[in-house]
Amino acid sequence: MSTDPDCIFCKIIAGEIPCFRIYEDSETFAFMDINPANEGHALVIPREHARDVYSVSDTAIAATVKTAKRIAAAVDKTLNPEGLNLLQCNGPAAAQSVMHFHMHVLPRRDGDDLKLNWGLEAGDMDAIDRLAERLRNNL
Ligand code: AMP
Ligand code: ZN
Repeated sequence: MSTDPDCIFCKIIAGEIPCFRIYEDSETFAFMDINPANEGHALVIPREHARDVYSVSDTAIAATVKTAKRIAAAVDKTLNPEGLNLLQCNGPAAAQSVMHFHMHVLPRRDGDDLKLNWGLEAGDMDAIDRLAERLRNNL
């Protein structure tokens, strides 16, 4: 399986950078976004390093979508949002900032007025940590 020693998400999978882990299996890894666009914002990545939708393998993208479905259900059960986006960004105009294929699991609230390119603002790490625990309990 290909990994990139300079990739921040590969480092998270390898345990070299801390994260608020929610779930992992042989092909995928899920953790909290530390700059949440909304409460409960999570990310799902394949273990295999690929930059984007153009280069990710069929196996890796299928496994990532499957895990995203599971995380979405946990987010829904935990937070009961009015909506939820599964989102995946490729390239600068789409605001891709991490070059390891990933899916956002993004709970939505009525009237949250979230824009697609929402900008990055650091979240409250204690609150994110507590939420990761609640999501794990709802897997
Ligand atoms: P994108 O804009 O689609 O490339 O999204 C990348 C996401 O990764 C952003 O929402 C960032 O907040 C998130 N992110 C970057 N570094 C980390 C990290 N160390 N732990 C958790 N989330 C991260
Ligand atoms: Zn990577």
